[in-house]
Amino acid sequence: MGKLHNPWPVIRGVVSDLDGVVYRGKTPIDDAVKAFQTWKAEGIPFCFVTNNSTHTAEDVVSKLVSFGIDVTLDNVVTSAVTAAQLIRQRFPEGTRVFVIGAPSLKQAIAAANLEITEREPSVVVMGLDREITHEKMRIAVDAILKGALLIGTNPDLLLPTPTGFEPGAGAILTAVATAARVKPIIVGKPEVYMIEAALKRIGTDRSSTLMIGDQIPTDIQAGKKAGLCSVLVTTGVPPVEDATLLPPDFTIATLKEIPGVR
Ligand SMILES: [Mg+2]
Repeated sequence: MGKLHNPWPVIRGVVSDLDGVVYRGKTPIDDAVKAFQTWKAEGIPFCFVTNNSTHTAEDVVSKLVSFGIDVTLDNVVTSAVTAAQLIRQRFPEGTRVFVIGAPSLKQAIAAANLEITEREPSVVVMGLDREITHEKMRIAVDAILKGALLIGTNPDLLLPTPTGFEPGAGAILTAVATAARVKPIIVGKPEVYMIEAALKRIGTDRSSTLMIGDQIPTDIQAGKKAGLCSVLVTTGVPPVEDATLLPPDFTIATLKEIPGVR
């Protein structure tokens, strides 16, 4: 667009968002599939990071494999698994956790040897729960007021659906946090926990690692905060203009525009 910016770095690794970048809902985005196939063939390591806590990493792997991207569990970091890891960094095995969220979140918490219970929890974890009730929110607020730590998988307020929008995990998280007057720990983007987990997996240098995403408030902020080269691709949700947010290093219409991608 005639705008001056720095040249692309030498690309040694890629961290990427999924929805709006690799696929839209159930439909793969062809140029993105080809880009990840190129990187795979050239030995450039990549890892996907998703705020969505309602699918397991296994679900994500099968979806990507069905699109022709050769990945294993090592290539996927979810907010659910990252939340479980974060709890285990701060609390011992067997710690009582109250979970508001999808079965995939409960699975990640249980797999980290934490006890899921509504009885005197030390931690309340909240992800998107399409069966949210006032009773679940009451248990959460009461536990937090008695000292439990509040952790949210992601701050997304609104999610696109085939027919419009639905409230995201951040909307119910905000309700509980507001009632209990606490500031939750957020695991997902724009925070950097998942980016750090992804960098640990691929082992590349921050300045030669891309963070690709379709949302400035989450993907790009997380990438910039972690010191990655942040790339906005306009194949997902329409970008939000907000002067208070850090701008992406590059804005592209397709991953084909990234040097070396065929
Ligand atoms: Mg996205």
